[in-house]
Formats: sequence, C-alpha cells, structure tokens
Amino acid sequence: MILDTVKNALIIGLGTSGIATARFLCNRGLTVFISESRKIGDLNPLHLTTLKKLGVEIETEGHTEKFLDTPCLVIPSPGVPLDLPILQKARDKGYEVIGELALLEDITNVPVIAITGTNGKTTVTSLIGHLLKTSNKKVFVGGNIGTAVLDFFIEKETPEFIVLEVSSFQLDIAKSFHPNISILLNISPDHLDRHGTLNNYILAKQKIFTNQTGNDIAIIGADDPDTTAAARPTKAKLLRFGESSSYEATTGNQKITLSNIFDGDDSVETYDLSKSNLSSKINCSNTAAAVLAVRSLGCSKSDIQRGLNSFTPPSHRMELVAEHNNIRWINDSKATNIGAVAAALSNFNTPVILIAGGRNKGCDFTLLEEAVQEHVKEIFLIGEASQAIDEAFGHLIKSTRVETLYDAVEAATLAAFPGDTILLAPGCASFDMFSGYAQRGLVFQQAVSSVLKKLSPTDKKTQDKVML
Ligand code: ADP
Repeated sequence: MILDTVKNALIIGLGTSGIATARFLCNRGLTVFISESRKIGDLNPLHLTTLKKLGVEIETEGHTEKFLDTPCLVIPSPGVPLDLPILQKARDKGYEVIGELALLEDITNVPVIAITGTNGKTTVTSLIGHLLKTSNKKVFVGGNIGTAVLDFFIEKETPEFIVLEVSSFQLDIAKSFHPNISILLNISPDHLDRHGTLNNYILAKQKIFTNQTGNDIAIIGADDPDTTAAARPTKAKLLRFGESSSYEATTGNQKITLSNIFDGDDSVETYDLSKSNLSSKINCSNTAAAVLAVRSLGCSKSDIQRGLNSFTPPSHRMELVAEHNNIRWINDSKATNIGAVAAALSNFNTPVILIAGGRNKGCDFTLLEEAVQEHVKEIFLIGEASQAIDEAFGHLIKSTRVETLYDAVEAATLAAFPGDTILLAPGCASFDMFSGYAQRGLVFQQAVSSVLKKLSPTDKKTQDKVML
C-alpha cells in the first residue's frame, strides 16, 4: 500500500489530473506540493483557489529541486515527459515516481474497465459508460476523457464500475494498476515524439495487461497483428473481436455476432447496428469491444441493444457537417495520427479531397501512401507539418499548402465536383494553430458555413442544408 508509507507528495503539472490528485491526497492527509512549468497568470484561477483552500504549496515557471528536500512520492501528470530532470533527480534520491493509475489499486475494490489503443478510446469508453447506464448500473467514467481518474472518490454514491480511458502516457507509470477488464483496441504509430520508437509505444500499451490474472478479462482487436502480439503475455482470459468468424465477437455487415461465450457452447447472439449511429466499419469494431465488456459484466442482450440504438458518438469524429450538390463536408478533426486518417479514408469509395496538417507527432506520413493513392484526389495542407506531408504525397496527387483552415476549406470547395467528399482528417495534433482538436473542428464547421454562403449567396437551399 503506497499511501500507508508516505507523508508528502509532489505533483508535477497542474491540469485536470493534477488538481484531482491534489484534492485526493490532501483528503488522505498527505502534505502536497505542486510544481508547474507555466506562469501563474496562465493557470486556471479555479485551480489556484482550490489549492489555496487545500493548503497546497505551488511553484510555477519551472521545476526546481526545492520540494525534493523532503522525502516524497512524486506523481507526474499524464502529459509530463518522463525524462524531465526533476523526475530523474527524484529517482536518484530513491523516491517513488508513479502515475495516478497506480494510486487506484490502493484505494478501491470497485471493478475497473480500462480502455486503451491508438484510436477509438473515447468512443469505446463513452459507449461502455452508456451501455452500463442503460442497464441501470452506477458507473464512473473518467481518465483521459475529461474527468480525472481520482475524481471518482468525490462521487456522491460509490459506483458499481469504474470505466477509464487510459493513454500510453498513463500506462507508462501505472505500476500496480490492475484492471478487471482491459481493452486494447488497436495499435498504429502515434506519439513517437515522446516514446521514441514504435516498439516503446507498444511496450507502454502492453502495460495494461501487466498485473492481470486468470480471473480477469483482456479484450483485443485481433485483426491487428501488433495488438495481438502485445496481448500474447497476458494471463487474463482473452476475448477477441474482428472480422474472422473464429473470434469471440465477429464484426461485419453492420452487425456483431458473439459465438460460444455467454450462454454456453453453441450459443450465438447478434447485435444489429444498422439503425444506430454506430454502423460504420470502424464503429462496428469499436462496438464489438464494448459489447464483449458489458456482456462480461452481466448486462442483458436486450439492454445492450437498447443502449446501442440510443448512443450518440462524441463530436469531431467523422461528423457530417454539410451536404450540398452531392458534395459532403466531413469533420474528423480528432484524426490526429495516420491510423485514424487511414481508417477515415477507408470509409469512402468515391473521391476524397483531404484537408490535413498541423503539428507532427513523429509520424511517418509515407505510411499513408497506399490509402492516399486509393482514395484521395487532391490534398490541401495547413500548419507546421504541411511541408512534410507535401513531400510525402506531392508526387502522387495534386497538393497545395495554404495559410489557414478557412483557405483550405474554400480551395477544397472550389475544387470539388458532385460525388466528392471534403474531409478534414489532419493526421496531426492541432496545437500549432488551435487550442485543441475541438476548436479546430469548430473552425472547420464555421468555415464550411461561410464558404457555402459566400459561394452561393442566393441559394437558399444551400444554407438550409448546412447542418451546424
Ligand atoms: P481516441 O480517444 O483513441 O483518440 P476517438 O474515439 O476519440 O479515439 O477517435 C479518434 C479518431 O480515431 C477519430 O478520427 C475516429 O474517427 C478514429 N477512430 C475511432 N475508432 C477507430 C478505430 N477503431 N480504428 C481507427 N480509427 C478510429
């Protein structure tokens, strides 16, 4: 029990996770310090008020060693690079460096369902939360999805289940974290700027299985060889989903079939997605993972089907923004890596005009060559990565670098013919030009609306059809 042996804690980084960890540890009677790299004026005033009330001392504009004079547990927030000098100093002094997930093991017996993977985590996490709620279960949904992991302890009622989206960053320092159900959806190159190599990234993801035993369940996307290989050492009962009929959950034709698992041998049950918002190929695969999880937790088939029919996927993921003259504008701003772009492109058998670019996270864009050649007829590029993407695809298709997202939308719209789709799937982070993927998606929506008004100001029908 880590918390029984320490009196002080140093949290690195004051964001959603840092403030929740501070609140939790103060409640447990620890003396808490926070070290933050930003200036005090750039911090959330509500966070500062909370810290004052809790009596937490904070240093800003960099991490000095002043808090390390006292022996303490050191807890970096999820986005903090693990090679920061302050963390190395703490390790040299023999202090334990752990993430928030490691604390969970100390403090709760509530079953934990943890979801990771390169893409689909938020969709699957919120879907599992929704399906459990539809089955009248009390559930806490948190992690890398906006609500911090440790905020579950301020819930009025103890939940029956904790559902957590967990990133590779969190898993890297999760130590004793032990989910009852782990889900590894897929693996494709991402965050290589932080992990260095694809292998390191896979090793971080693999940590979701480390502490599982034969009484636990591991659910994996078995069509992906890297995911299957990562799950090989797991001791947990393996449930696979994918296109093969030999898997426990088979996806295809807008339905999911579970075979031989929940009602004994020869049992087959089918879930229909054709009337739901989950009918795309990608979401069929995401849904298979969620259904395996909630069925394992005892939800009934009819409650699950009801939940699937009433689920609305989160925004900025393959969202139809407008349709006019048989041209569609789609917002997939959350596609921040090449795996998500490839998945987005695979939805189309008509020509795509792609809008991409932003801040590169270390991805090799040439890995998208085949998908681009097959689906994309022209590309418009924005942001820091525009040159690198232009170099990757400029010899294959017409490629134009522009200044702003508005310019990209306008140029793409002028280039489009009936039957085309204009797709924002940046393959990059947004922070070079926007506060996050959500702001980038909103700017795209506004640009589509303005461009359609500008290009056909007297066409009333155009404006009616813009679904903002
Ligand atoms: P995450 O939380 O892992 O970033 P999201 O559900 O927010 O996942 O989706 C991120 C992006 O990945 C979106 O562009 C979405 O369309 C795409 N996506 C969702 N599920 C999958 C999947 N199973 N495989 C590939 N891409 C996916």
